[in-house]
Amino acid sequence: MSDNIYLTFQRSFSEDRSAIFLEAADGRQVTFSDLECLICRYASVLAASGAMPGQRVAVQVDASPENIALYLATLKIGAIYLPLNTAYTNYELDFFLGDATPAVFIARPEVIDSLEPLAKSRGVQTTLSLGTRGDGSLPAAARAVESYHGVVAVAKDDVAAILYTSGTTGRSKGAMLTHGNLLSNTETLHREWGFVPGDILLHALPLYHIHGLFVAVNIMLLNGGRILLLPRFDAELVIRHMRRATVFMGVPTYYTRLLAHPDFTTDSAENIRLFVSGSAPLLPETFDLFENRTGHRILERYGMSETGMNCSNPLVGERRPGTVGLPLTGVSIRIAGKDGRPLSAGQTGVIEVKGPNVFKGYWKLPEKTAAEFRTDGFFVTGDLGQHSEDGYVTIVGRDKDLIISGGLNVYPKEVEEVLDRLPGIAESAVIALPHGDYGEAVAAVVVRSGGCHLDQETVIRSAAEKLAKFKIPKKVIFVDELPRNSMGKVQKNVLRDQYRECFTVEGMAK
Ligand code: AMP
Repeated sequence: MSDNIYLTFQRSFSEDRSAIFLEAADGRQVTFSDLECLICRYASVLAASGAMPGQRVAVQVDASPENIALYLATLKIGAIYLPLNTAYTNYELDFFLGDATPAVFIARPEVIDSLEPLAKSRGVQTTLSLGTRGDGSLPAAARAVESYHGVVAVAKDDVAAILYTSGTTGRSKGAMLTHGNLLSNTETLHREWGFVPGDILLHALPLYHIHGLFVAVNIMLLNGGRILLLPRFDAELVIRHMRRATVFMGVPTYYTRLLAHPDFTTDSAENIRLFVSGSAPLLPETFDLFENRTGHRILERYGMSETGMNCSNPLVGERRPGTVGLPLTGVSIRIAGKDGRPLSAGQTGVIEVKGPNVFKGYWKLPEKTAAEFRTDGFFVTGDLGQHSEDGYVTIVGRDKDLIISGGLNVYPKEVEEVLDRLPGIAESAVIALPHGDYGEAVAAVVVRSGGCHLDQETVIRSAAEKLAKFKIPKKVIFVDELPRNSMGKVQKNVLRDQYRECFTVEGMAK
């Protein structure tokens, strides 16, 4: 018996293969027959390109129906899907390719020439391209091969995907998610959020992140469709398509941007049965404003790359603003002290998670993995929380030095390492500052080296050569020295308090 999650998805495909699985924003419709044909052909190309079971297929492409087919083709042949943020620079990619050593790397047609030498230098066997309209060398090769109709047998514990999460040490870690992890989480969410045939998901999230891929796409695959796929979040585009959908998923920034748009009215949301929010804290004010405008209470859930989803407010029952709801069925959550001892209701501690959703470990980092699990199998998330007497979990902060800007994670250490290497900078501390649009904005507090007259523009321009756009500081503050405690550790809380009003409510730098 194979536990390949692809088999479960395939069983959920509509028996009527002419039924629509997905519609793109440009009106292009993809039937189940089209989808299966793409998957079988891509599977053939991947296998011929050197992607054997267990080998990595690294993918840095824009959202498209073909991108979803590529994900499924990778699962089908038992290889490991490795999605990469399209904002990553060559400097960042160099690390991912060197660390994950993929057999195949697929990138956007417009950058493939510049990436090919980099991929080669990292031992990648085959580099292919994929554009958003079925263009590129992967689709071209797929047109010339025989379809692969098999599904490679895998065990539940075999790795299906690796998601890189930035590390507190500045080095990214690849979270290995198994076929069993993905399936258990997909089935749980599908059931608990009440998906039924006929549901239509308006999809505006990135396809390289757990939220857009393993929550949104996997649920709709299990549901037998249907997705309205947008190339990216754009409030106007979302509003234009919303009446045709029954479910919408987003990060809090999407909701604040929708609310800021004059065309977003009660009517826009009239056919939606469920709005889901996650990846960053949804402010109770946003929850209230949204309810006043649309009559909908947004369902907030909590998860992470390493675990998939852990908690959710209920579909039926009280959706409590400011909380992430109750543990999902089969997921055990405890709030623990530093020593791992469970705390009682109302006390703040680290959120720890155990369940079939929890990842297998970090790629090639057994010691790091061991350090983040308790001996009884609970994973230490690094998020700080509390639970109420009736079990609702509230996230109150983070034990890990992490910034979540517009739903994307930035580890300050990674940015500091780049800044500290720039000529003219003696040292830096990167912090999160409240921001009206992104929730949190990346800000850098910088000490110049003696005699240097570095300005904000130069720092930002130099950082942009190395870092993806969402990690680049939106504000650079120059100081003579960083505040430190008696142990010499930079007091980031002091900096956060001092500069918390750097951005206006709308998110403009003051
Ligand atoms: P990622 O691995 O990119 O999904 O990021 C996971 C992190 O996002 C978690 O460890 C939390 O810090 C944060 N997060 C996810 N969902 C929520 C939420 N609903 N409220 C607050 N923080 C969240």
